[in-house]
Amino acid sequence: MNESYDLLVIGSGPGGYVAAIKAAKLGKKTAIIEKGEIGGTCLNRGCIPTKTLIHSSHFLSMAKSMKEAGITFTGLDIDYERLKERKEEVVLKIRKGVLGLLKANGVKIYQGEAKIIQRHLVRVKCGEDEENLQADNILIATGSQPVRPNIEGVNLKNVVTSDELLSGNSKLYKKLLIIGGGVIGVEMASIYKELGSEVEIIEAMDRILYGMDKEISQSIAMGLKKKKVSIHTGSKVVKISEGGSYGLVCEYIEKEQKKTCEAEGILLSVGRGPNIEGLFEDIDIEMDGPYIKVNENFETSLPNIYAVGDVIRGKQLAHLASAQGIVAVERICGLEPSIDLKVIPSCIYTVPEVATVGMDEGEAKARGFKVETGKYPMLGNSKTLLSMGERGFIKLVCDADSKRLLGAQLLCDRATDIIGELALAISNKLTYKDIASIIRPHPTYEEAITEAAHDIDGMAIHLI
Ligand code: FAD
Repeated sequence: MNESYDLLVIGSGPGGYVAAIKAAKLGKKTAIIEKGEIGGTCLNRGCIPTKTLIHSSHFLSMAKSMKEAGITFTGLDIDYERLKERKEEVVLKIRKGVLGLLKANGVKIYQGEAKIIQRHLVRVKCGEDEENLQADNILIATGSQPVRPNIEGVNLKNVVTSDELLSGNSKLYKKLLIIGGGVIGVEMASIYKELGSEVEIIEAMDRILYGMDKEISQSIAMGLKKKKVSIHTGSKVVKISEGGSYGLVCEYIEKEQKKTCEAEGILLSVGRGPNIEGLFEDIDIEMDGPYIKVNENFETSLPNIYAVGDVIRGKQLAHLASAQGIVAVERICGLEPSIDLKVIPSCIYTVPEVATVGMDEGEAKARGFKVETGKYPMLGNSKTLLSMGERGFIKLVCDADSKRLLGAQLLCDRATDIIGELALAISNKLTYKDIASIIRPHPTYEEAITEAAHDIDGMAIHLI
């Protein structure tokens, strides 16, 4: 007799494990199936390893600027092996935490590869062992993996994806070429430049961070160039081969001219594709291009099968996958969704950080809004000055008729920790006057939000 569950979750990334815990808390008999490490991409090869490395590289950059603050260092050095060890320690600690939460909530964990063989039947394969599990509902949260573009030479040694670059046996390349200037490419450029690598980015679009607010993407590009990261936009890589003084040569076309660039390591960061290979056996499920098609309740074309996270079309973000997982489980339980899925913050952990939510000015205008904006430069923010922060700004985009906040773009230290308050404002339809009406502590980065809100009426105090 097969073991039977109310809900079977496939994949233990932020979409899957959060959904499983939520379902268990709502009284459902739940199991989760994972073929790799608990925690998925986010914990093992994504958010947590990158942000741990970024934190270490921040220490380095701070140490380099300490002289200005009256503290002198001698013998500053990088121990890349220790850096990777610490990253692994953080990952292990969090993984232990997630495992503990799953167990404490009574979620049964199956280690193995899942295949949906019937609408209510899943086969789990672990080595030679196989087990069939019965389920009323199935939630697919199998995530995504890096895309290897179809370019000659992508399988050469030292041509890596973020998975390999973040692995324990990665090396600190003397020269790193990054193909793709999206969020992952830009974060890796910041990390490895700070750690001492020579870094070059090749991007096919006419600017890096193409989907982002133009002012922010230009500002990040300027910051990277100031740190001597070379950026080639409007450039297409055509071939990678062995050779040159670093070991690899990359051929690319920039403004119709054939150029070459040498590198010791090449990072392919051109996007991520959904994990669906081998997931279905004789199951006819509707697709949306390469992604699994779902409705607003995250239900697939088969009513008891749901899908969330990177495996469906949309922004590939850990917090979005978790939110979708919670809403899917609420729907399975016949509850109203408790999360506003329309307001999604996006962050980039560069120096300074980037955080955006809602519409930027261009998008709001394109959607027919009469727009009012307020902007405050971080140069005038005392916390930024006293902490020797970088340039940046906080910009608020409002609807001129209703005065409601439509969007916010932050380029400043701690932007990723501040953006939540603006997401709350948009979700609750607050006006810029509501935003300006509360007291924010001093000195903080957040004070710039008050100033940006007042700037809409030309009433910012600390702005000429
Ligand atoms: P995943 O986290 O990919 O988890 C899917 C899991 O399913 C995996 O563990 C996989 O092994 C398992 N699985 C797949 N198929 C099967 C099967 N058949 N049977 C059993 N198990 C299976 N997002 C942020 O919000 N903030 C960040 O700072 C951030 N940084 C990132 C940095 C990098 C370098 C990368 C690559 C991504 C980053 N992301 C970040 C994106 C984020 O990691 C993903 O959006 C998120 O992990 C998606 O969650 P998920 O649950 O959909 O899938």
